[in-house]
Amino acid sequence: MGLALKTYPTLTAAGEALAAQATARYIGGGTLVVRDANEGDLRFDTYVSASDPELSAIAVTDGQATIGAGVTMAGIVREPALGFLAPAAKAVGGPAIRNMATVGGNLFAPTPYGDFTVALVALDASLDIEGAAVPVTDFLTGRETIYARALVRAVSFRLPAEGSFRFAKVSRIRPKGLSIVTIAAVVEERSGAITSARIAYGCMADRPIRAPAVERALIGKARTKDGIAAALAVATEGTSPPTDAIASAWYRSEVLPVHLGRLLLSP
Ligand SMILES: Cc1cc2nc3c(=O)[nH]c(=O)nc-3n(C[C@H](O)[C@H](O)[C@H](O)COP(=O)(O)OP(=O)(O)OC[C@H]3O[C@@H](n4cnc5c(N)ncnc54)[C@H](O)[C@@H]3O)c2cc1C
Repeated sequence: MGLALKTYPTLTAAGEALAAQATARYIGGGTLVVRDANEGDLRFDTYVSASDPELSAIAVTDGQATIGAGVTMAGIVREPALGFLAPAAKAVGGPAIRNMATVGGNLFAPTPYGDFTVALVALDASLDIEGAAVPVTDFLTGRETIYARALVRAVSFRLPAEGSFRFAKVSRIRPKGLSIVTIAAVVEERSGAITSARIAYGCMADRPIRAPAVERALIGKARTKDGIAAALAVATEGTSPPTDAIASAWYRSEVLPVHLGRLLLSP
């Protein structure tokens, strides 16, 4: 069976084409969609894409970043104003994958993928979906239901305070192994005490999640071994890690507090 590729000048037109054809699938960089086709997925016979320049735009103004959903991981790494995010973008695959893999596609990538999305969760990002602002956590909850065929135009977030963003991907093979656990954190401090904390995990559930118990336990504490001890004690609360070829659920739960501790105490 042949596969058609239909490219539209706007995301809106691509959305209309998707709505009109149940066997069409949107393609970003194609690193997952094309693999599905090559592996014999017969549920779609048409790729739909959009050449809208807005999709590959990055704007950073007045402390706010907006990244088009078609921006690639390599594009993030090249953007000086998003230097703090480079480690999260570099965590996605090897160079060939990063040249194709988009921010939009990463939002839909199933566990153990979705490393960049973990950073977006810690940044409390908002998605532009058909003109509506959707919190990234709400999107992830409805990803396979109400948002299954929704098109993401862009992601936006406030730039974190200098030095407050931390990211770690733990894998068996470096530099491009799949994730055992991925952690992103935005931790703000004043006068030696933590004033706000947003902690996100990848591979500790079937999609990226926040860790509210950890966040609560960090508030008012010093970012020291003793200060973070209560947070590490509840590190696995609310998690349901998968068992897959990379690691068992047990192993993920065992190593999470160790890596969370290292990340929180890193300079
Ligand atoms: C060898 C290999 C290694 C990989 N390693 C990693 C890794 O280490 N970490 C990681 O996170 N991922 C990894 N991936 C997965 C994947 O490359 C990335 O998650 C990537 O960001 C997916 O983006 P894409 O643009 O290629 O998605 P595509 O394949 O184009 O699309 C994936 C899904 O997202 C949907 N989609 C894409 N863009 C939009 C949009 N704007 N709006 C709505 N839906 C959209 C598509 O319809 C499709 O359902 C790897 C993949 C491969 C093949």
